[in-house]
Amino acid sequence: MSRFLNKKYEALEAYVPGEQPRGMEYIKLNTNESPYPPPPAVLDAVSREELEKLRLYSDPECAELKQALADSYGLERKNVFVSNGSDDILNFAFMAFGADGAVFPDVTYGFYKVFCALHGIPFAPIPLTEQFEIDPQDYFGAQRMIAIANPNAPTGIALPLAQIERIVQENAEHVVLIDEAYVDFGAQSAVGLIKKYDNLLVVHTYSKSRSMAGARLGFAFGAAGLIEDLERIKFSTNPYSVNRMTRAAGTAALCGSAAAYYREKCALIAKTRDELRERLLALGMEVLPSLANFVFARCAAVDGETVYQQLKQRGILVRHFSTPRIRDYNRITIGTPAQCDALVLAMQEIMKEKQQ
Ligand SMILES: *Cc1c(COP(=O)(O)O)cnc(C)c1O
Repeated sequence: MSRFLNKKYEALEAYVPGEQPRGMEYIKLNTNESPYPPPPAVLDAVSREELEKLRLYSDPECAELKQALADSYGLERKNVFVSNGSDDILNFAFMAFGADGAVFPDVTYGFYKVFCALHGIPFAPIPLTEQFEIDPQDYFGAQRMIAIANPNAPTGIALPLAQIERIVQENAEHVVLIDEAYVDFGAQSAVGLIKKYDNLLVVHTYSKSRSMAGARLGFAFGAAGLIEDLERIKFSTNPYSVNRMTRAAGTAALCGSAAAYYREKCALIAKTRDELRERLLALGMEVLPSLANFVFARCAAVDGETVYQQLKQRGILVRHFSTPRIRDYNRITIGTPAQCDALVLAMQEIMKEKQQ
């Protein structure tokens, strides 16, 4: 830290992203990326012609991309916001809507509390139930901005749409942000509700189900007023936050053939997930019921940190969090079936060694 840093950032604890190893080849099951590449339409979209246009700024309105998103979700362009990854959008949303404070679960995406700290937003974590579930009633009448990841991370557990709707109804004077980063793997989306409620913001990303984590593209749906508020903040920081290559790739990812490819891959990942869960349960592990592209699992005999280390020694990276309530667990991204086989084999060895 230099002596020049603004005092208000001295105590800021930045978000720690999952490891992105260089060098040694790991089976990488730690940051919920897709194990499958983007479809051909996306690869072809970043053409030489497109690259030649790099001398020009990208379209700050992102009109074409927004229209394509609006068309795919049956909405209007004024209901769509896009920016550089959904983290960017979450940041803007906390800035825009967090004036009265924010609430979110005690166990959820670790970035929410970082945004609150960054912007001086008071926040109150609401404990999940014993079963790591969200009790909707805990959010009724919150009188603050609410942020809920659905499915939640790192648990993978999803709330049914009717319960999300109740939370939106019972907090009508504040924004309810539903972070649907993992919704394409089997949960119910709240996108259909945005026409009905002016306080609902639904945030999506290309990083997980669309195999484009490295492109940095997120989008959000909400009433036109909410989108205008987000645009105001985006245009006060970086109007060009979506670059030309990403805009081209992101638009191509919505075409018919790409959409069919993603549906197939999401179904495959969901099937691999359900099989992996069964296999880990059969080993005697505890695995929360996930509708995301990861499972959250613990093993009674070996603590979470040791499981993480032992898997890493065997060339498999998973995500471990050291926060007290979840330190016995690891979050395991769903890879290809072969990668999941390797994980099950490694877990078998780790648990057997412990018994000896
Ligand atoms: C991965 C993730 C994001 C971030 O996605 P980006 O679009 O890559 O910034 C947002 N919310 C949750 C819950 C996530 O797990």
